Amino acid sequence: MANNAFERALARLDKAAERVDIPPETLKRLHFPKAVLSVSIPVRRDDGSLEIFEGYRVHHSDLLGPGKGGLRYHPEVDLDEVKALAFWMTCKGAIMDLPYGGAKGGVAVDPKQLSMLELERLSRGFIRRIADFIGPEVDIPAPDVYTNERIMGWMMDEYSDVVRRRSPDVITGKPLALGGSLGRSGATGRGGYFCLQELAQEFDWDPEQTTIAIHGFGNAGQSIAHLLHEDGFKVVAVSDSGGGIYNDSGLDIPEVIKGKRAGNSVEQVYCKDSVCDLEDVEVISNDELLTLDVDVLIPAALDDVITEDNAEDIRARVILELANGPTTLEADKLLEEREVTVIPDILANAGGVTVSYYEWVQNRSGDYWTEDEVDQRLEKRMRKQFAAVMDLAKELDVSFREAAYCLALKRLGAAAEALGTQALFNGKD
Ligand code: GLU
Repeated sequence: MANNAFERALARLDKAAERVDIPPETLKRLHFPKAVLSVSIPVRRDDGSLEIFEGYRVHHSDLLGPGKGGLRYHPEVDLDEVKALAFWMTCKGAIMDLPYGGAKGGVAVDPKQLSMLELERLSRGFIRRIADFIGPEVDIPAPDVYTNERIMGWMMDEYSDVVRRRSPDVITGKPLALGGSLGRSGATGRGGYFCLQELAQEFDWDPEQTTIAIHGFGNAGQSIAHLLHEDGFKVVAVSDSGGGIYNDSGLDIPEVIKGKRAGNSVEQVYCKDSVCDLEDVEVISNDELLTLDVDVLIPAALDDVITEDNAEDIRARVILELANGPTTLEADKLLEEREVTVIPDILANAGGVTVSYYEWVQNRSGDYWTEDEVDQRLEKRMRKQFAAVMDLAKELDVSFREAAYCLALKRLGAAAEALGTQALFNGKD
């Protein structure tokens, strides 16, 4: 088995390619990121000492348009992971029919160990380092794990200083006050929610009888929990890095969200409270949450949480992947054998990049939309592309994951075909 994250990600593409009529040369092209930038970012700590952080930005493919994808801050960020994440962005853009290629970036850092000012210096320093590699028509970053609106605002401001032009369209997921879009912050969760609604309809589920566990209670986890709760679904468990909570008759999600955010103030960039600090709840571990006897499991945190070690113990009938890459290749096989339906990350969490696209369109046109307009456009696009993946899964008799990759490949193949061989294979870009 391939041992780096990018090669493992490509294995799924190769599997899907067996089912799709795609020229081998196009497939070969997708095996290599278009360009990779590796940088070091010196940051002056508050105590006067100097620390150097390593960061990356990867353009996987620009077949369908400029690169698009988030920037993450996490101690385990490395180049192979960023390449895999950039590749998934290529697939997401294709599946959602967006005019974007795939890109991703990150810095190896534990951001919770930095003060607010240190974090701002790091964020501005990173953007200065990658400023020539990004741009509104080249590559448009966005938030990802442990980066958020505030950080996007600093980055937009720094980029604007570098190019001496106010450039809100260089980055998405910005604060509303700096050209962000209404509906962007909840978009990843909302997109996943539409997928689940479609599936519930397909399986003829009664929301009130449908139990759900959510692993990861950050932005995406909270937003889907809230929507599902409002819709009458029974969210019985949620967890964050501090642990999980469980109630078999359903959690009061608005209260849980309120509790989680209670300690949050404008001075803080990260939420310091855990759901486990709430009173009157049954506390469980993250591992216990993953194997609860529920209808739907939603991994909404990091990658590789469903592995060959716990896949046999997963009791959910459906897994909705709000995180990127939460299921390993080995776990995939075991889940497929047990007929667990997996709505793959490249479809389930694509609501985020979709509303990022809407933000970019608004920035470029100067015409700003209402929240309803954003939500309606997202809903229409999400339901349409979910149906396209489901139809293909039925037609080819394959899993949702394989169908999603097939759909992405078809769209990428059509663009490669339309461009002709000159641009793609003879080195002209
Ligand atoms: N980081 C998010 C993702 O993985 C959003 C990317 C974007 O909005 O460009 O899809």
